[in-house]
Amino acid sequence: GPITTDMKTLTEEIGKFAKDKRIEIDTLKIREEYRKDFLGNVSHELKTPLFTVQGYIETLLDGAIDDKNVRRKYLQRASKGVDRLIYIVKDLDLITKLEVGDLNLKREPFDIIELIQNVFDLLEMKSAKKKIILTFDMEYDEPIIVFADKEKIQQVVTNFLVNSIKYGHTNGTTEVSVENLIKNKVIVRVTDNGEGIPKQHIPRLFERFYRVDKSGSRSEGGSGLGLAIVKHIVEAHGEKIYVESEMGVGSEFSFTLEKAKEKHLAKASPKI
Ligand code: ADP
Repeated sequence: GPITTDMKTLTEEIGKFAKDKRIEIDTLKIREEYRKDFLGNVSHELKTPLFTVQGYIETLLDGAIDDKNVRRKYLQRASKGVDRLIYIVKDLDLITKLEVGDLNLKREPFDIIELIQNVFDLLEMKSAKKKIILTFDMEYDEPIIVFADKEKIQQVVTNFLVNSIKYGHTNGTTEVSVENLIKNKVIVRVTDNGEGIPKQHIPRLFERFYRVDKSGSRSEGGSGLGLAIVKHIVEAHGEKIYVESEMGVGSEFSFTLEKAKEKHLAKASPKI
């Protein structure tokens, strides 16, 4: 009769409700794990430079400050430690914003070739120090106008290039190319002839704090957030990111961008 049917419906409803709640609790548990993991990683990342700074300051206070020859050196090292802390905190701030979706992209038309050249110039000292040459691999020499958030794309290009220098060999080369794809898109490729990345690590490279060689990378002084930030930015644009790498040969990181359309250009420079 109708009562049994109702009972059956009710039992099903309760079952479904319980299942939903279980899933909800599972999700919360995963989130909680994630949060704990994140905080653990953050404090770990901050500890190393903090102890470095503390060490130099204490040594100075213990008397090294009176030694004209060492005080400058120690202060410089302490200052470098503070720079590193600032760098990590900035990255943390950015990744937090990216993860809560608080990105606020400001798209505009700009020349991607000019932007890359700009990043080359900014990284000149860094690359010269390791005798790494940054080059364009381009057949043509014309501007390529894309439509994206310029500042954020500069961050993407910078992170890729900084990595290619950090994990590149002395006297190495990093090549950047921009190529037309179908459907009004371009692909930007950053190719190095550095140490390469072991296959098993590739799927996890874009996770925050993930590093192939913990000790080695640490001495290179990254935050382990660079690629996670890059992935967020590219995906927020609705674009794709790729990596290919071979041990002993090198790595290639690439991402797509949308070319500016007539209407974007018209908006950028209104005709009077
Ligand atoms: P990090 O601050 O450690 O550089 P990233 O998120 O930028 O953090 O990179 C994650 C890891 O990916 C690095 O620690 C490094 O092991 C590896 N990696 C990134 N780029 C390259 C590259 N061009 N060549 C070799 N390994 C790389």
